Amino acid sequence: MTEILQLVKEKDPAQPEFHQAVNEVVASIKPVLDQNPEYRAAKIMERLVEPERVILFRVPWVDDRGEVQVNRGFRVEMNSAIGPYKGGLRFHPSVNLGILKFLAFEQVFKNALTTLPMGGGKGGSDFDPKGKSDNEVMRFCQSFMAELFRHIGPNTDVPAGDIGVGAREIGYLFGMYKKLRNEFTGVLTGKSLNWGGSLIRPEATGYGAVYFAAEMLNHKGDSLEGKTSLVSGSGNVAQYTMEKLLDLGARPVSFSDSTGVIYDEAGIDREKLAYLMTLKNVRRGRVKEYVTKYPEAVYTETDPSADHNPLWDHPADCAFPSATQNEINAKDAQNLVNNGVFLVSEGANMPTTPNGIKLYHEHKVLYGPGKAANAGGVSVSGLEMTQNSQRLNWTREEVDNRLQIIMKSIHTAALDAAEQYGMPGNYEAGANIAGFVKVVDAMIDQGVV
Ligand code: NDP
Repeated sequence: MTEILQLVKEKDPAQPEFHQAVNEVVASIKPVLDQNPEYRAAKIMERLVEPERVILFRVPWVDDRGEVQVNRGFRVEMNSAIGPYKGGLRFHPSVNLGILKFLAFEQVFKNALTTLPMGGGKGGSDFDPKGKSDNEVMRFCQSFMAELFRHIGPNTDVPAGDIGVGAREIGYLFGMYKKLRNEFTGVLTGKSLNWGGSLIRPEATGYGAVYFAAEMLNHKGDSLEGKTSLVSGSGNVAQYTMEKLLDLGARPVSFSDSTGVIYDEAGIDREKLAYLMTLKNVRRGRVKEYVTKYPEAVYTETDPSADHNPLWDHPADCAFPSATQNEINAKDAQNLVNNGVFLVSEGANMPTTPNGIKLYHEHKVLYGPGKAANAGGVSVSGLEMTQNSQRLNWTREEVDNRLQIIMKSIHTAALDAAEQYGMPGNYEAGANIAGFVKVVDAMIDQGVV
């Protein structure tokens, strides 16, 4: 299996996040390949790591001062073996092809786990919506869609949001697609309710990560009641993770943004969470403002050169990383374990480095990897596609029930696959294996295409 990693590194040496994602999957599916030689004969890994298609394009737009700006746009259409490409768009200055390939690769396995018929893709731009006016964001989204519309469609490729792409951006993107195609279709998910969106879609990733944690605890005869929980990030996933933690009787005590960390030992209750949601979603402010309103909380600026993140160095039971990739390194993972954390449920994609994950396994931490724990978002996106096709809107209860059923079934699928291949209790291996088998069996059925 090291040949695959070598191949990937030789072909694209400057894509470390993609290498990391491939390495993580390759390590856990070795027993599956050993027991199923037909997969090796079909060169299934060589095919899986090569995107079916990558679209890279110029996104020119004019800022409020009348100056021309140029960004880069991407769509990685990774795998369509079990359904149309599906996966979010990320607008963040760090976006590059390697990061989107890692995200698209993860998405393939995640989408397979949801039980819904969705292939995997991911896209975005190095555009930074922070500090831009609504008009600038609109002009950028329109220019982005003026190229992307040729490549997507409700039966081809259905993007959604991710970092930097929320309801506002989805609205501008949808408006431009509709104008260019002269069609009102479910080509994007995460739409607003009054024009085709699904109830619970904004909540789904955060709620799902908490449901997954509840399942892992339930399996051990425990629950989230009273559990002190560290949460990182303060965007869509972090906010609804905290909301569901409160619903289930847990005590969130932290959140963050890319400049700093808030630790509120007294606990973040519903009133404080409502304040944070207004601060982030309406005023588009920074988390440090929280301490002006709640001076008992502590704000620590993040030092990018430090060897650890202070957020992960507090006594707690559970951790819900919900910001970005590689936000927990080995030192952070050690701090979590030293401080009593025995469960990690990843709302973000690949938030823990490989050495951090190794520590979780060594210390028997209940570890829900992102591709299982954060699959609630894309699951409800799939349910949004179904509602669009039926031209129906389900109730909040109906969508939430389906989300809970899907998260339970992902938990069971991961647990069963891990058991079957001799790694009982290892959700990381189990999620990789269950997703892998579903996708590659479909690829083999469809021949060499
Ligand atoms: P948002 O843009 O709503 O929020 C992202 C949050 O993470 C912000 O608080 C942001 O801070 C912080 N952040 C971003 N980059 C960094 C960084 N380099 N260092 C520290 N903090 C950072 O995004 P989402 O909540 O939607 O996404 C969060 C994570 O969840 C991502 O990994 C995403 O891929 C994953 N995910 C999201 C899904 C969804 O449905 N939205 C579905 C599945 C996974 P700041 O404001 O300073 O940028």
